[in-house]
Amino acid sequence: MTASTDTTRYARIAVQRGFDRHPEGLVYSIPASLHSVGLGDHVTVPLGRGNASVDGVVVGFGGSELLGARLTASRIKPIACVDSTIDPIPAIVIRLAQWISSYYCAPIGVTMAGITPSAVRKGIGRKSHIAVDLAQAPPTTTRIHPKRQAVIDALAHRDPSTRPVDIDVLRAECDLATHAPILALIKSGHLEATHRSSVQARWRESIVEDARAWTPTIEQQSVIESVSGALREGFSQHLLFGVTGSGKTEVYLRLAEQVLMMGKSVLYLVPEISLTPQTGGRIIARLPKQRMAILHSGLTAAQRHEQWIAAAQPGSKIVIGARSAVFAPVADGELGLIIVDEEHDSSYKQDQAPRYHGRDVAIRRAQLSACPILLGSATPSLESWFNATTRGVSRLHQLTHRAPGLRTPRVEIVDFRREIVLHRDRRVHLIGPTLEVALRQAFAAGGQAIILLNRRGYANWIACPDQSCGWMMQCDHCEAGMVVHHDSSTGSKERFTRCHHCHAEQKVPTRCPRCAKAVTIFGLGTQRIEEELNRLFPDLASQGKFARVDSDSMSKASDFHDTLGRFARGDLRLMVGTQMIAKGLDFPNVQVVGVISADTALNLPDFRASERTFQLVSQVSGRCGRSAQDGRAIIQTFQPDAEPIVAAARQDFVGFATRELAARHRFGLPPIHRLARAIIRHENRSEAQRIAAHLRAQLVSLPEARDVVIREPVPCPIARISDRWRIQIEILAATPAQLQQLLAAARSQAIVVPGEVLAVDVDPVALL
Ligand code: ADP
Ligand code: ZN
Ligand code: ZN
Repeated sequence: MTASTDTTRYARIAVQRGFDRHPEGLVYSIPASLHSVGLGDHVTVPLGRGNASVDGVVVGFGGSELLGARLTASRIKPIACVDSTIDPIPAIVIRLAQWISSYYCAPIGVTMAGITPSAVRKGIGRKSHIAVDLAQAPPTTTRIHPKRQAVIDALAHRDPSTRPVDIDVLRAECDLATHAPILALIKSGHLEATHRSSVQARWRESIVEDARAWTPTIEQQSVIESVSGALREGFSQHLLFGVTGSGKTEVYLRLAEQVLMMGKSVLYLVPEISLTPQTGGRIIARLPKQRMAILHSGLTAAQRHEQWIAAAQPGSKIVIGARSAVFAPVADGELGLIIVDEEHDSSYKQDQAPRYHGRDVAIRRAQLSACPILLGSATPSLESWFNATTRGVSRLHQLTHRAPGLRTPRVEIVDFRREIVLHRDRRVHLIGPTLEVALRQAFAAGGQAIILLNRRGYANWIACPDQSCGWMMQCDHCEAGMVVHHDSSTGSKERFTRCHHCHAEQKVPTRCPRCAKAVTIFGLGTQRIEEELNRLFPDLASQGKFARVDSDSMSKASDFHDTLGRFARGDLRLMVGTQMIAKGLDFPNVQVVGVISADTALNLPDFRASERTFQLVSQVSGRCGRSAQDGRAIIQTFQPDAEPIVAAARQDFVGFATRELAARHRFGLPPIHRLARAIIRHENRSEAQRIAAHLRAQLVSLPEARDVVIREPVPCPIARISDRWRIQIEILAATPAQLQQLLAAARSQAIVVPGEVLAVDVDPVALL
């Protein structure tokens, strides 16, 4: 057969194993038996010499032109089968994945694999969540098969309070081999099916939420009106800069209601699992009848599956979730609004391939869906601020006051150098007298408190006391110090050390391996704060009124959810934790917020250190004063004059952002310029250096590199992780297009092949 008579149809398949040489997916032929295969369908294809069966998604179609010069028709394998039980991925989501694959330099297969949860691909928990009941108005004319009549009878004989009944239960009760008779009855209209959601049912019962719809303030009303004016006008981008407690959620909910009333759907993104229960609870309370889906990584496989199906079902709904919910299978043409709450939050950025930023992908999705997108924050990212105030690509809306009934928190900077000397004993004190007194007053008045320390574990330095020796315990596999942890699970208080980069564990040494002096353990961690709080407030501690909230103590999303529920009900008086508790949460009885050390973020070797510190201090301070009671935020620091801390205490975002943008401008940094980072990782240090030098030389030689700055390779701030040395090359361009052209050229010429050795991070948010 010659190419001109070849009428075979071909499909491009994003297979789950990543092959960067084929950024658009691998080509397979479509056998006649599968001619109805469609875009976004989940398929199984043979791969490699052994023809291993792998999952993939159809991302494109074509004729023999797909073969190009290198492929011959006879060597193309056919698609093996189509899994029609999984809802296809909507076309817009496929275009989104293609954009991610090219913009963030990630293979399409890896990108697509992150889009359909594995529970959905594997069919986990598929059937068990359908509940069935007798139809309100069943058809009267059709004759019913006896087997099916038995199902109807079984349901009719049930007590109405036990209906609807789970489809599996009904099947067992009627002694059926398959669900087919029940499904047939649903199809014929004799039975009604409802998708039951265990996730939503659970949130409904356990979140204590105020369902009141507030009368919007004049400020809120004006934001609602101006965004709602854009709801029918296709794509537009909006930034809502509203101080903490200004009632941004109320604005989101009112706009969401309008969109739902238009018969469209809303995608509502929140940065972390931690914020999903509270936001979910609020939305459920306000819109109890509204169809919704909740998508995040903390769900069980079966729950993810059930929620994914709920998102894919046609009809207006609200889909809430963390980063990956941006890929929700909401049908094309159905989205009416995307909301990105706490848009500045760095957890929107995925730290493994594909290294996409959920906010930026959401903007792209809104463009493709021709709907508005609303980004909101009390501390907007400089990227979004720059877009709204300088580049003019997004409209700025402001809420300058807290909602009625809320107080402005009093933020006090405490110079910790002075505080330590006030302590009489020689113990380690991480809570200074000012914070301690404030906590005592709050507890005495029946109030609650939140304490933030952005570091897990007990203490982060294990070292020789002798300065002339200078030994410090490091991980054997990383260029990083080990952190002491207490094993709280056993109650034995056993201590061990753990590396926060590769998770290796070791015993706590008692003597210095070089000079045999007894080691000292110092530094801070949430477990040490917990210990000190137990000592300071033994009564509350013994009543179980404290909770430590970090990724060690909250291994499951439900742990965190339960803890928030106990805090909301007042069973807990204090939460101490990492940034998990610093943002978004709205609890009216919080009278004191303490920051143990505002310096932890400030001293990171990252050009965003100031921005992060400003955000953290502002956000955590914003957790108090959410009622008529006074709120105090006490910020302990060794650098009380540091600009971001002072600006955050004064709640002066605009001043901070203006100065910081000017500095970024001077140094040619984002958001003024675009940054990408190539990271070379190799067990052998000199090999890593060699590869990096070679890569840079090749990049520099490309014509697309002319107006782009490609820095010399240097070791990453953490120079080795998990036995692999890490070298980085920073690439800076004046425009995103320049950066993209360079990367695309490097990729098509196989100069840049992301994989084990090379990682490419476009618009990185962390530079370690
Ligand atoms: P933000 O997200 O801006 O920090 P929230 O949306 O959490 O603020 O709102 C803070 C509190 O103010 C919430 O408890 C909310 O119910 C309340 N609130 C919001 N809008 C109003 C309003 N117009 N009148 C009274 N209270 C309001
Ligand atoms: Zn390590
Ligand atoms: Zn020593």
